[in-house]
Amino acid sequence: METLIAKCKSAKRPLVVAGCVPQGSRDIKELEGVSIVGVQQIDRVVEVVEETLKGHEVRKNKFIEILPINVGCLGACTYCKTKHARGHLGSYTIDSLVGRVKTVIADGVREIWLSSEDTGAYGRDIGVNLPTLLKAIVTVLPPDGSTMLRVGMTNPPFILEHLEEIAEVLRHPCVYSFLHVPVQSGSDAVLTAMNREYTVGEFRTVVDTLTEHVPGMQIATDIICGFPGETDKDFLETISLVKEYKFPQVHISQFYPRPGTPAARMKKVPSTAVKQRSRELTSVFEAFTPYSGMEGRVERIWITEIATDGIHLVGHTKGYIQVLVVAPDGMLGMSAIVKITSVGRWSVFGEVIETLNCIDQEIASINKTCQDETSACSTTCDACSCSKEADPCACGAQSCEQKTVEEATISRNDMWEDKTTNLIGWLLRKRRNHVKKREESEIVSRHNSNQELVCERRVEWGGIDRALLGGMLVSLITIVALVMHLGARVST
Ligand code: SF4
Repeated sequence: METLIAKCKSAKRPLVVAGCVPQGSRDIKELEGVSIVGVQQIDRVVEVVEETLKGHEVRKNKFIEILPINVGCLGACTYCKTKHARGHLGSYTIDSLVGRVKTVIADGVREIWLSSEDTGAYGRDIGVNLPTLLKAIVTVLPPDGSTMLRVGMTNPPFILEHLEEIAEVLRHPCVYSFLHVPVQSGSDAVLTAMNREYTVGEFRTVVDTLTEHVPGMQIATDIICGFPGETDKDFLETISLVKEYKFPQVHISQFYPRPGTPAARMKKVPSTAVKQRSRELTSVFEAFTPYSGMEGRVERIWITEIATDGIHLVGHTKGYIQVLVVAPDGMLGMSAIVKITSVGRWSVFGEVIETLNCIDQEIASINKTCQDETSACSTTCDACSCSKEADPCACGAQSCEQKTVEEATISRNDMWEDKTTNLIGWLLRKRRNHVKKREESEIVSRHNSNQELVCERRVEWGGIDRALLGGMLVSLITIVALVMHLGARVST
């Protein structure tokens, strides 16, 4: 392998290394500058190759582990091509999955995403079920709440039988209170044509039960616009469902016939109508303001990524709301208490008040604390904030591409809006970026007399600091000169 890598590197060829070696030892020197696909992400090899051909180096986020719990599903949706590729349900055993969770936690992973075409169907082929798996996994999560579990996409039918148990798991402080449940249409007639095997009423039962039993529960969903046979009335039912629940995230896609699927042989809705419905639903959804009112709230977040602007770090609340914070890269993989300073349509901005990177950290001044007696987390690190809202999700069968493009675009718009309306804030963020580039910031941690970890940030003065200070000095000198001038005129 090393010989091949060296050969390709010297020939300056784009290079992807796949398999267990790069996954297990991604820091080995030969893999520097090389795209990597681990065994759990092997189904994403096409994406990785495409990105690599564009000149990007693709590497897994070392703080996030995407853990498939099964392959295939038990559905037979008439529009689905995935089923052709993935086939019938094949679940991994609970022991093997729990073993993998323990391994990745020991490797420093901070978020574990359980993925599947339908997590609700997990285990039906091997005589177990999803709640049994989830309960087994949460018992091995670190008691300090440093690693969070995110449960992946589930269709309504199978999860219906376990709603109370699923709610119990989602209340656990080390599990995000977030679930992606694709409804696809608000019309029973369309759901029947799609062969989705549930009704709108059953979908409502899932959403209502989880919302009632899980504080701050957030649910994202998917809609396909213009499925063959969808009438104006069917579409209006979808619109009213979305309006009623005001989902913080809706992944909207236009029906596209996949060759070889039953839906490809059905009579299509005219493409102008499909586009019009998609536009209408998008404008309904974009009018929601899911995060308004969050300003001033104190939340615990888990930070795992650098934002695309290169300035912020991305963290998530218990409800998986995306929080953008200005903080040093050293905080990646850490948890923190933040105060929400402003909100956008797709994310909120926060200010770090305190970092939580050790087990004996006491969390003070948090405005809401979950009191879950069954929680392993409550023993040493009683740190779960009860937030609302939601965020991204595992990919639905139809909507991944659109979701990625829409969210990326809209997030950038949010940032631009924030920058233009708050020049000082923008300058301060630029300052942080500048500081980062010059590597002038560092985290200094020390224990004070109460054994409480205090994190300080020591920062040298950069050009933008000087510009801000210079501006203030010029203003001060101008005011003094004006006062002296007026004084002289009054006395004469
Ligand atoms: S859409 Fe999902 S549940 Fe339906 S057949 Fe495809 S993979 Fe299975």
